[in-house]
Amino acid sequence: MAVKKAALACTVCGSRNYTITVKPERNARLEVKKFCRHCGKYTLHKETR
Ligand SMILES: [Zn+2]
Repeated sequence: MAVKKAALACTVCGSRNYTITVKPERNARLEVKKFCRHCGKYTLHKETR
């Protein structure tokens, strides 16, 4: 079964700070709070593809 790579992008500055692997059958777009070193704080990150 193939896994897909997705990036988590900061919703404030738009930089892609994290790379994750997702199952292909999962269509929901992931939204997590992670630390953004560009913003210097925790921001909401969204999955991009
Ligand atoms: Zn940011």
